[in-house]
Amino acid sequence: MTTTVPGPLYQPAGTAAGLESVRGLVNTALDILQEVSAARLGPVAPGGPEGARSAAAKALAGPLLPEQGGDATEVLGDLVRSYAEWSVDITHPAALARMQPPPTDVAAAAELVGAVLNQSLHAWESGPFALELDRWVIAQLAELVGYDSTEAGGTLTSGGSVSNLMAMTMARDTTIADKLGRHAFQEGLLRLGVQPVVLCPQGVHFSIERAVRLLGIGEDNIRTVPIDRDGRMIPAEADRILTELPEGELAVAIVAVAGSTDLGIVDPLPELAVIARKHGVWLHADAAYGAGALFSPRLRGMLDGIAEADSVTMDLHKFGWTPASSAALLVRRAETMLSFGLQPTTCLSADDDTCAGYIGSQNTSLQTTRRVDALKIAVSMRTLGREAVGAMVDTCHDLARHAAARIQAEPKLELGTEPPLTAVLFRYLPGHGLDADAFNGALRRRVMEDGRALLARTHIAEEDGTSRVFLKLMLLNPETTTGQLDRIIDELLATAAEQEAAAAGA
Ligand SMILES: *Cc1c(COP(=O)(O)O)cnc(C)c1O
Repeated sequence: MTTTVPGPLYQPAGTAAGLESVRGLVNTALDILQEVSAARLGPVAPGGPEGARSAAAKALAGPLLPEQGGDATEVLGDLVRSYAEWSVDITHPAALARMQPPPTDVAAAAELVGAVLNQSLHAWESGPFALELDRWVIAQLAELVGYDSTEAGGTLTSGGSVSNLMAMTMARDTTIADKLGRHAFQEGLLRLGVQPVVLCPQGVHFSIERAVRLLGIGEDNIRTVPIDRDGRMIPAEADRILTELPEGELAVAIVAVAGSTDLGIVDPLPELAVIARKHGVWLHADAAYGAGALFSPRLRGMLDGIAEADSVTMDLHKFGWTPASSAALLVRRAETMLSFGLQPTTCLSADDDTCAGYIGSQNTSLQTTRRVDALKIAVSMRTLGREAVGAMVDTCHDLARHAAARIQAEPKLELGTEPPLTAVLFRYLPGHGLDADAFNGALRRRVMEDGRALLARTHIAEEDGTSRVFLKLMLLNPETTTGQLDRIIDELLATAAEQEAAAAGA
């Protein structure tokens, strides 16, 4: 009888041989990224959605799982090349659409370490140091918000949307438990016989609306709090809504926006905190974008009172310069995370492992297996230091103000508002009776299809209930210069004039 000794089935990354192999593969990939980067003409390849589709059709010929596998260097090289060629170059000064900052080098290196070691956070034995690191990063971020770190808690999440969902879950469960002495997560909403209600300003991030849907509260039970001329929730109106709430309705949360995505509006946090306390309602601050102001001595005052909120959403993959996912939900009192724990209290569960300190983080997360984002956040922040991060935030703010001043000086452009943070809203004003909304929408698509600039679009609601299309520049690249910004605006004006002439002649 002969036994065949099988060869290795695959090359794991973390062994001595694997680490050498990873080194070689990374070098190959980086060489390709450098080649592609040198050949770039703009922030995205020209061709628009059609171009991306045909590039993908070419690169992805054949099945995901072919009968016979290929050589790692070749497989990686081929796909990385196409992926890179059709990536948005977020380091390009004209990549101005989305809140994707160019991440730091050291954060990218830490991501690789994270992948090789493949730790997880759900149990002590899935990543002992990773768990310590994760808890430390959370405690440090809680301090940044101004929370008392001995009482505060939180979790890193995959993004602001998940942070907001978790915050709304805790708001629902904590408020109902405080008022009725019963647990919504146990009995279900129907048996409690109350209808939860959530107070939000108009224009709250859609992830809050989605959370309200998912939690069985129902979108119809959002009470929109009127806003003042600056777009901020009027605290007295929130107070009135809460005071006049009909029998059978129970307000569980006031959601304050701490830096709205378009206009950078910050709701009056200290006043809302007083009203939330008076009515026993949870105050959530959505600072997914705005939390960047915390790094800047110049802008920090915008977020005064944020530590009065019961929970805060903070994205470091927006301001923070770490790759996604880098995000946090921070809570003023750690015990309110009960909603996510399947045991009522961790240490009273008489679980001998738990009491001996073998504790994972599955009781404070929506996830079980969970990637360790804390490593890249920690090395990136420690490498930069507070002064540099503050200066980066300020520089982006200065760039936004420069763009706003330039736009204001152009007769064919209309500025949305002065940018409190780093988003600049504007629109081109075409003549010849052309529809400005359609014109600006088409202008944006045109520069994207040409691969010359990436802009976002939004709409601003008017008092009469209508809304107008605006284009948006999102400035999160502190390496961009004012000269580059000027040239981008010049080009945009030239393209718009061409489009206007063509439309007028048509
Ligand atoms: C970006 C953003 C979110 C969503 O965050 P993700 O990380 O993209 O999930 C929520 N709220 C506000 C105000 C945001 O700007």
